[in-house]
Amino acid sequence: MFRSKFSYSNSKSSYSDLLVDIESGNVESIFFYPRLREIDVQYKNGDKFKIPILYNDQLILEKASENKVELTINNSRKESSAANSFASISLFLIFILAIVLILRSTSKLASRAFGFSKNQAKFLTIDDVDTRFDDVAGVPEAAEELKEVITFLKEPKKFEDLGAKVPKGVLLIGPPGTGKTLLAKAIAGESGVPFLSIAASEFVELFVGVGASRVRDLFSKAKEKSPCIIFIDEIDSIGRQRGSGIGGGNDEREQTLNQLLTELDGFADNSGVIVLAATNRPDILDAALLRPGRFDRKIEVMLPDLDGRKKILSVHSLSKPLSRNLDLGYWASRTVGFSGADLANLMNESAIHCARDESKFISDFHIETALDKLTIGLRTTLISSPNMKKIIAYNEVGRAIVCAVRNGIDSVDKITILPRSGSLGGYTKISPDEDVISSGLISKKVLFSKIEIALAGRAAETIVFGESEITQCSINDISYATNIVKEMVTKYGFSIIGPISLVPDNNEMFLGEGLFRRKPLIAENTSYKIDNEIIKISKISLNNSIEILKKNRVLLDKLVDILLNLETIDKKVFKLTTSKLLKL
Ligand code: ADP
Ligand code: MG
Repeated sequence: MFRSKFSYSNSKSSYSDLLVDIESGNVESIFFYPRLREIDVQYKNGDKFKIPILYNDQLILEKASENKVELTINNSRKESSAANSFASISLFLIFILAIVLILRSTSKLASRAFGFSKNQAKFLTIDDVDTRFDDVAGVPEAAEELKEVITFLKEPKKFEDLGAKVPKGVLLIGPPGTGKTLLAKAIAGESGVPFLSIAASEFVELFVGVGASRVRDLFSKAKEKSPCIIFIDEIDSIGRQRGSGIGGGNDEREQTLNQLLTELDGFADNSGVIVLAATNRPDILDAALLRPGRFDRKIEVMLPDLDGRKKILSVHSLSKPLSRNLDLGYWASRTVGFSGADLANLMNESAIHCARDESKFISDFHIETALDKLTIGLRTTLISSPNMKKIIAYNEVGRAIVCAVRNGIDSVDKITILPRSGSLGGYTKISPDEDVISSGLISKKVLFSKIEIALAGRAAETIVFGESEITQCSINDISYATNIVKEMVTKYGFSIIGPISLVPDNNEMFLGEGLFRRKPLIAENTSYKIDNEIIKISKISLNNSIEILKKNRVLLDKLVDILLNLETIDKKVFKLTTSKLLKL
């Protein structure tokens, strides 16, 4: 405040000048700021200077008082103390606020942790659920077995009279999207008994013991309402094998599982409570969960077959206007390996495309576009370089021809060089073998043909452009092929090394086990043999593909021509061109 009176002149004045000036009586007054290490000096002739001084400079003070210079000490502590107190008040407020926030969040946690009565399981009654068995298509066996479960609940007497025990636990097993959750909902909708539904992950909470007490609570609720169904979805999230993983596994999960096992044992036979659970990883479930008396009934929900797919497609077309000549059977044949969820998604995407087109009815074109989007990915910008187009075309046609030779002409669904998001070049869509899908078994022959098809792009480039001109276009296919070869040699025993499994069990998800307990039991000599086998099989397969394409060179060039012109060859065109020219 004092300083604001000063307008400082630019003329220099040093510390030693100042001492001289004080002594010679030129200085009128000095303002001293103890904390700032500088002083404002007012000269008698009107000059004003700001001069740096030493901290706690006694010399200036002495000189000033000796020479009767007016000395004003500016105690800035007053100002700063006001500022200080403001700062400390706000700090205090922030502190209080933080404490309040922490208290609030912990009390929320605590109420979540200790509010066992507020179990998250949902009670559903028939009126809540509008799913019926009619909504679940293509899984007749599973639906039949589940209908039986309803009979257990509705007429337990019938079974008791014969001395039969009603099963306590029913486990729905199947790949994702096959309709397990949907089936459970259908039971809820059809059974007319109370239905308690909970996802297994909801048991697992931050605090150890909460999950266990949730399980207890769930079962006691169910017993009150008996007859009743409990449905635990995705049970693998708590039902995993115990005692594995780094540090002995997850305590909370184990306690929850133990409680579940106890509860399953605890309620008496024929008590009218049936526990239904669903999982797509039965292989990782704890053995204790699967023993008789617990989840002893297993119902497999498989991927739908041709007829099933057609039915599912029609279930999901009920609310959608289809064009009159649309044949869902044809689309069922084009969607081998699709799950119920995939098919539902396909019909939904088709309806979206239809709306985007502003057409009134879903046509083959809309479904085709949707199928492409779901399987190959979205279209991106065109490839401009004709050279690159040619290389990609040879890669794709090469694969299609080897596929036609090995798996039959019908197995090629579509060839395209239109780039799609997420892939470098084109795409050859191959229908999976229905037998392989339904049985889950894959033969040595099928694996060999998979490898040959994957390496056919490289084979085509080699014979068309020459060994030195090959590109890395088929990089993804090569790594795919190598993975299959590795599995053939080290897992399935399909090589001269013999029927020996050289990889650890598929327990890798329990990281710790792999790290600590298992050491590879492979001798150096054996790993040398493995490598040799992998190289040998890969090379033989590449040569086989080269032979096939050499034999079919005319067809190869012709199809590439068509592909470069049309950019896409569909099933019909492929069949038409190939059936006359293909040499097996
Ligand atoms: P998950 O087996 O993984 O539990 P969901 O039951 O959740 O599969 O299926 C997801 C969706 O897929 C369902 O809501 C339904 O629309 C469709 N869906 C799956 N399977 C079928 C089926 N068999 N019939 C009709 N729709 C199905
Ligand atoms: Mg599910």
